[in-house]
Amino acid sequence: MTPPERPGCAPLDNLALARGTVDRVTERRTDRDWIDAAWKDPRTRVLAVRDGHALVREDGEHLGLVFIAPEEAPAGTRFLLGEDADGVVYFGVSGPLGPAVKGLGVRVASLREVGALLSDRDAGLLTHAVALANWHDTHVRCPLDGTPTVPDPAGHSTRCPTDGSEHFPRTDPAVIMLVTDPEDRCLLARNAAWPGRRVSILAGFVEPGESAEQAVIREVAEETGITVTNVCYVGSQPWPMPRSLMLGFRAEAPAGQAIAVDHDELAEARWWSRADLLAALQARELALPPPVSIARHIIEAWYGSPLPSTWTHAR
Ligand SMILES: [Zn+2]
Repeated sequence: MTPPERPGCAPLDNLALARGTVDRVTERRTDRDWIDAAWKDPRTRVLAVRDGHALVREDGEHLGLVFIAPEEAPAGTRFLLGEDADGVVYFGVSGPLGPAVKGLGVRVASLREVGALLSDRDAGLLTHAVALANWHDTHVRCPLDGTPTVPDPAGHSTRCPTDGSEHFPRTDPAVIMLVTDPEDRCLLARNAAWPGRRVSILAGFVEPGESAEQAVIREVAEETGITVTNVCYVGSQPWPMPRSLMLGFRAEAPAGQAIAVDHDELAEARWWSRADLLAALQARELALPPPVSIARHIIEAWYGSPLPSTWTHAR
């Protein structure tokens, strides 16, 4: 008999940046002939990305990525994103975006800004493209001898022409966790670097040689002095800003503990009941992370329904 699921540990669904539908066709990445033919196919769509931004078109209710044909693609590192169910192949290029066209509703937008508004297909393509472009833009030399590296035909690895070493995209795992006390109040904190009303749940990077669950326990203790137990995983989504994978958790804080905030990282932290949190959000005394973030989903899953009040964010 399977034990009943612990309350709060139900898997999250519909995370904004975990919705991709395009097949990554990993088996094609070493097939230079297939890649060359796909690049010559007029049906192929190219997405230019630069510094986490792409062109989007707003057409009434609909918001979509602006794709270009391969012959219109800017100069820059090219990478294969995948192939959809209709056989259309998608590439990304890290390069100039081309002009925003006001009359046509075309503008420059960041993944953070539009990741939750795009279709499943477009959200997945933009997330994938931004992640790969960020890696290419910042890993241009061999870490062993400093020689400029050469991307493979699919743009999913690079090779050093001097020593032949092969290099792969990096993803940095980070944990993000909602901690509850015995009264089922949740722990929200304001980062010292954040302005005004912003609060969120705790987060931090997984260290080398550490499990994700160990990182949850260590980060909560470091930042708030709270010891947690019953750590359970609830879901993940990529956060390529510049290269994180956010691993979401719930954890429980046994009774009788005082919060001791690490003021290097946090300005404040406290327990919130559902009623107090809703009242503070409605009074605009607090603001939550945007719906594109896994933090917002974890907080709303604990609360039980959508909540008002969101950070406004600069691009
Ligand atoms: Zn080298």
